[in-house]
Amino acid sequence: MIINNNCLECSDMLRGRVDKKFCSDSCRNVYNNRVNGNVNNYVRNVNNVLRKNRRILESLFRLGDKQVHKGLLIEMEFNFQYFTHKKFNRDSVTFCIYDYEYSTQENSKYVVISLADLNVDTARRKSRKLPDYNQFRLDEL
Ligand SMILES: [Zn+2]
Repeated sequence: MIINNNCLECSDMLRGRVDKKFCSDSCRNVYNNRVNGNVNNYVRNVNNVLRKNRRILESLFRLGDKQVHKGLLIEMEFNFQYFTHKKFNRDSVTFCIYDYEYSTQENSKYVVISLADLNVDTARRKSRKLPDYNQFRLDEL
């Protein structure tokens, strides 16, 4: 069986091991730097958007503006597509951006900014109990 592999970076034909992907260390480095560089850029850009969103919420919260028109947030270049996590309440949704959060009701033009409860996730994890599988088996007998 002839396997015709080419270097992922320069497309030169590869000689040697079948699982070889690059013709040389320099091709491997150039390739990995480019691929990882894209990922790092993406992560950096998302983090920048999240940080900017957080700064906007923080500045309004510190000014005492807890209830804010969405239009103001848009004017301040708040990006509603980015948040760190989300909580569903009975009649509203809360979007968290690190230690700040805003809740909004369906079709409302306003959001209410508050400080996030930083212990929520830990508390939830502690209270989650795994079922006792040994007990299940005993009960079935
Ligand atoms: Zn190469």
